[in-house]
Amino acid sequence: MIMLKKNFRKSMWSGLLAQSITTLNELEKTLHVNEPGLKEVVSRYPMRINPYYLGLIKNKGDAIYKQCVPNIKEIMDETGFEDPLNEEELSPVQGLTHRYPDRVLFLVSSKCAMYCRFCNRKRKVGHSKMVSSKSIQEGIKYIRAHREIRDVLLSGGDPLLLSNHEIDQILRELREISHIQIIRIGSRVPCTLPQRITPQLVKILAQYHPLYINTHFNHPDEITPQSTLACAMLANAGIPLGCQTVLLKGINDDPKIIKSLMQKLLTIRVRPYYLFQADLARGTSHFWTPLRQGIKIMERLQGHTSGICVPHFAIDLPGGGGKVPLLPAYVTGIKNNHLLLRNYKGIIYKYPL
Ligand SMILES: *Cc1c(COP(=O)(O)O)cnc(C)c1O
Ligand code: SF4
Repeated sequence: MIMLKKNFRKSMWSGLLAQSITTLNELEKTLHVNEPGLKEVVSRYPMRINPYYLGLIKNKGDAIYKQCVPNIKEIMDETGFEDPLNEEELSPVQGLTHRYPDRVLFLVSSKCAMYCRFCNRKRKVGHSKMVSSKSIQEGIKYIRAHREIRDVLLSGGDPLLLSNHEIDQILRELREISHIQIIRIGSRVPCTLPQRITPQLVKILAQYHPLYINTHFNHPDEITPQSTLACAMLANAGIPLGCQTVLLKGINDDPKIIKSLMQKLLTIRVRPYYLFQADLARGTSHFWTPLRQGIKIMERLQGHTSGICVPHFAIDLPGGGGKVPLLPAYVTGIKNNHLLLRNYKGIIYKYPL
């Protein structure tokens, strides 16, 4: 009985993945999209629209559609950078970036449940040479040899698209390293393929606490009964959940949409962590928003809704400078040994220095 159920669960998410739209032929049949030039787009940047995420599209051109359906603008962009965050240069071994003193970014998977058109690693996701069992072993070796690393951030691609066995093995090897305090997994699966969060997977993850998951929702329409269940299973296993949202033109670059998303995330026990300015990645310029729009959105959040709804608005500096938080200007000046501070309603208060 139990075996049957296990197989059913596994075949459910891998079955869904297998039914993804990956060719222009399938795209035309399903969504009636047929633009000249798309052939070059999907040969350069892979497409995968799984049936679950496809089912969230309500109208052609809506926020879900724009995140997953290829656009000819992806190959017309001459302004973006191939490797906007200089991850490769800051990489002591393939797939591992050591930019900050005490933590590393470690890519362990090249696959995703859906290939986001705005992805900042779109030059390499979906390509088999991005990650190998050799690069994973070398990464673990590097982490073991560097005692200053206390936080490992698993990313990709999507680490939760690996098999349960592979995930178990990577986490076990990391947990055996005594200087590793926390492990973080960055995964879009709770949003793009929530069926991947199975009881078996959750049981494995729960063995490696303290373990944090940062997921990635960009629009309130992505919060569904299925994603709610996936997040509940993870939260019930004691895994704190955060969200790293990307600000995207025509998708969520609106204070009302972001506020609604942040509030809804809290209802599914996901704590907003970062709101990112979209990176300057080649092929994504049609998603970029002006910096002032992000600041305006932050103004409309801070004070207007619960503080735990308010993420850090951050830019990841081109060239590998790291993340920098940006705040609306709440300090408006200094007068007579007092700081002039503006509250969320725009009223100025004095505070002694
Ligand atoms: C984002 C990132 C981290 C983690 O940053 P936090 O601010 O600690 O969440 C670590 N390493 C690299 C290379 C990163 O890009
Ligand atoms: S899930 Fe993340 S890594 Fe994968 S395509 Fe989307 S943004 Fe890129």
